[in-house]
Amino acid sequence: MDTPTLSSSFVKEAAIRVGFDACGIAVASPLTEEEWGYEEWLRLEYQADMTYMEHHREMRSDPSLLVPGAKSVIVLLSGYKPSQTMQDRVPGARIAQYAYGEDYHERIKRMLFQLIAAIRQNYPDFEAKPCVDTVPISDKQWARRAGLGWIGRNTLLVNPILGSYCNIGELVTPFPADKYDTPIENRCGDCRACVDACPNFALTQTADTHVPLLNANRCASYHTIENRAETLPEDLHLSGYAFGCDVCQLVCPYNRTAAVRYQLTDEHKDQLEALKDADPITFKRLTKHTVLSRIRHSQWLRNQKK
Ligand code: SF4
Ligand code: SF4
Repeated sequence: MDTPTLSSSFVKEAAIRVGFDACGIAVASPLTEEEWGYEEWLRLEYQADMTYMEHHREMRSDPSLLVPGAKSVIVLLSGYKPSQTMQDRVPGARIAQYAYGEDYHERIKRMLFQLIAAIRQNYPDFEAKPCVDTVPISDKQWARRAGLGWIGRNTLLVNPILGSYCNIGELVTPFPADKYDTPIENRCGDCRACVDACPNFALTQTADTHVPLLNANRCASYHTIENRAETLPEDLHLSGYAFGCDVCQLVCPYNRTAAVRYQLTDEHKDQLEALKDADPITFKRLTKHTVLSRIRHSQWLRNQKK
């Protein structure tokens, strides 16, 4: 039996109904090195100690190795720009804006399953693999392919409405679609605000094709989260962050005008203040179901001392 062709407008309407902010559908043909500079990034050892990024190299660019017979990558965006920044609320213990509230992995996964259920109302045999950071697939590159934005000099997907403040999820499926999206033009223009603002000179690009690259060895976001060593590099600037770093995003003109998607409440502020000097048990309790649970209490303290 032939696999039915999905109506792209039906899928996109269903995506908005379950709570996503944007949806695009990309043809599941392999990503090319010219598109995303992955091999160059590895050759330069910009992955630092994230050795998992060296694994499943082919699968990262070819979704048919993840889902046999993959025809479409349905890409979903969920914006997270908060209603206000809490930059100076807890000096030395800032957290990246994507870290407020419920862990986005859990939230997006739930919405992806809701979308599968919604699509099955019209296509009862619909099958898809839901992805949100937990499988080897390059979210940003697939979002770009699906016409949802461009890769900015900050190396993130920049969506014209949500800016770079968006979480990305995918459904990889063997179902073809009646209409595929194509990439939109890069709108960074002459702007270099993010590159100039990075206190650690972590933003660079490939020599030939000028694909933006992040040198994780120099990135505060990498070091505050992924680096488990007792001490951090002497010359690394954390800009007051104890989890992640938003410096290169805060200066982006597209983020200044991006749609607010998340209301910060007094409860969030109180929790952040309570976290600052929390003991290990309190830290564990307060970070449960948030992305902050990804780091150890010892990292949290180490980052604040830097
Ligand atoms: S997250 Fe911070 S350290 Fe990393 S590239 Fe952006 S500004 Fe630089
Ligand atoms: S700050 Fe400027 S260069 Fe950087 S991503 Fe935004 S628009 Fe592009």
